[in-house]
Amino acid sequence: MSRIWSVAVDAPLGPLHYAIPDTLPPEALMPGVSVTVPLGARKIPGVLLEPSESAPEGVRLRETLGLIADRPVIDSKSLAWLQWLAKYYAYPLGPTLQLMFPPLDKSGGRKKARKAPLIQADMTEGVDHSVSLTAEQTEVVNAIAATPGFQTHLLYGVTGSGKTEVYMELIARAAERGEQALVLVPEISLTPQLIQRFARRFGEKIAVIHSHLTPREKTDNWWAAHQGEKPILIGARSALFCPLPKLGIIVIDEEHESSFKQDESLRYHARDAAVMLAKMCEIPIVLGSATPSLESWQNAKLGKYRLHRLPSRIHSGGLPRIDVIDLREARDQERQSGRDESRPFWLSQELHLALTETLERGEQAALFLNRRGIAQSVVCPSCGHSSDCPNCEVALTLHGRSHLVCHYCDYHESLKEVCSQCNTGEPKPLGLGTEKIERDLAKLFPNARTVRMDRDEIQSREDLEEAIAKIEKREADILIGTQMIAKGLDFPGLTLVGLVMADIAFNLPDFRASERAFQLLTQVAGRSGRHLKDRSGHVVLQTYNPDHPSIQFTLKHDYEGFAEHDLGFREVLGYPPHGRLAALKFAGPDLQETEDAARRVAELARRSLENAKDPSGKGYSAEAAERADSILVLGPAPAPMAKLRNLYRFQVLIRGQGINSPVSSLCKTLSEHIEARAKSKAPLLPPKVRFSVDVDAVHLL
Ligand code: ADP
Ligand code: ZN
Repeated sequence: MSRIWSVAVDAPLGPLHYAIPDTLPPEALMPGVSVTVPLGARKIPGVLLEPSESAPEGVRLRETLGLIADRPVIDSKSLAWLQWLAKYYAYPLGPTLQLMFPPLDKSGGRKKARKAPLIQADMTEGVDHSVSLTAEQTEVVNAIAATPGFQTHLLYGVTGSGKTEVYMELIARAAERGEQALVLVPEISLTPQLIQRFARRFGEKIAVIHSHLTPREKTDNWWAAHQGEKPILIGARSALFCPLPKLGIIVIDEEHESSFKQDESLRYHARDAAVMLAKMCEIPIVLGSATPSLESWQNAKLGKYRLHRLPSRIHSGGLPRIDVIDLREARDQERQSGRDESRPFWLSQELHLALTETLERGEQAALFLNRRGIAQSVVCPSCGHSSDCPNCEVALTLHGRSHLVCHYCDYHESLKEVCSQCNTGEPKPLGLGTEKIERDLAKLFPNARTVRMDRDEIQSREDLEEAIAKIEKREADILIGTQMIAKGLDFPGLTLVGLVMADIAFNLPDFRASERAFQLLTQVAGRSGRHLKDRSGHVVLQTYNPDHPSIQFTLKHDYEGFAEHDLGFREVLGYPPHGRLAALKFAGPDLQETEDAARRVAELARRSLENAKDPSGKGYSAEAAERADSILVLGPAPAPMAKLRNLYRFQVLIRGQGINSPVSSLCKTLSEHIEARAKSKAPLLPPKVRFSVDVDAVHLL
């Protein structure tokens, strides 16, 4: 057995070679084993990759310092999967492998931690027997269960069509076979309601991983799932990194959610990473959504994913009726005939009436607005000066009476009575937020009890549970919230949803803005009337752009129409899913320095493509030239949010025509080149400029 191994160390470097001291028994040496290694003056963790005959020439071999007890060996499938992730997302392997371990040691604090139950007792009370599935649901379950081995299934079912029951049935069958199931949901929809539903069906069989757990709780859940004590793991995207030895099925709920994309370090997309994991484990994976991502929809159209539909709601009331209110018309009318001053400016006559009637019937209503606070900016009427954050290029939001807050950093100040610029005008709040809606409602419906769900009100899991309980127990009549209320919530008494200003969702400089708006509007509308039997729920959608495709297709409940429309628009521009897109992101304290760095990297990218296309270059091939020809380097340009937290932000976009365009491998080449140059006399990036690669970028702001 060789005593030299290549080791993926926890640093932004490629694998390094180390000698193994005699104190380590040979039988402990295998790929995936964690060791501590010296690097410079530091001691850092690393993972053994493979034995090697000799170290590369000129390298002074150092010895590993010992095994890290308590860390499980990364199995070969997981190792292959992590290697794929690191390569595809152009991120160093060492830090990628570190994601595969729980936050704490297995044993630390065990005495206390053992007593803490993974699932609260009240959640498992009255374990309920499964509902009997409808014919439609049964058909889907059977079709999915009938294909053994790897297959990606796209379950496209309208809101309230019973997708969750389908997941649970598939999971129950896997558990009967002694297999494990992994269920990923967006953090935001990992609500107590969802976990309770699984807990009622599966009781103590569930482990849960989400961001509101303490590191100890996370670690305990991690081990319980990893050792197979718990056959089902439900979690947010990071649960993907808990190795399940008997994994038999993966479910991704709300697969379209952009929060499945990790926004720092390894910028993986949990959905795509999960599909790759399923492929390597040769197991089925189910992606579910009422509004599938256009990527998945396209894959289903191409036959890569198998499409299953649940076109109708379980309860016979059907999908909600949506009325669109044209705020321009309402405004023009009021200009002519005067308006009822007792009604707040954001409330149309129609929504007012619908609210009144809903409350009179003793039912519940929800008002949705994608903005917190009282007003999203404060402007001086005499000189036009607006109060902006000094650290970020954004307006300050007014909260409470006089509290101006930046939503991107921790900056805040109090509202001045006189404009600091012209010393004459009195700054006026403009726009609207959830806090203002709540205040206005208190005046308008003094007897109605309101609950607000946004990041100001809901800061812990307890807050969330409390708010949900209030609505479930009918201790609240009107729910006011941001996107926090869009997903996963199921309230029987909720029969009216008001979208206060739908426009906010699509007025963003991002090619996916329409898609996100359509998804958001559909999901929010889908909260209405989920349990009605004899009539449908009601949605009032207020907008200044009633003709916008996101709104028109939402109105008709026409996901497929929307998908065709948006896919057509993206094809013309070569955007995903017709092609590939990566963003090289730069952020630095000095504008010029940051832009220059971005320019150098963009030039490097262009040169590398030119070289590949040059027939006289070494290793030239016509095929590689053609692949290089599919790629376009755009920029650098300032990011849409050009300055955040005192850092100037630039982007270089790399766009590839065609789904197989080698955008990811160009990114990998670039980051390796940048890393190699970092230690040279002429580094491409100054030390203060942060650089990151975002393959299949989703967050472009
Ligand atoms: P989705 O996940 O598609 O939004 P759910 O699975 O939450 O849909 O189902 C919507 C509602 O219908 C839930 O309250 C659920 O308990 C209920 N439900 C689902 N399937 C059945 C069934 N076969 N029989 C009775 N009720 C069902
Ligand atoms: Zn700020």
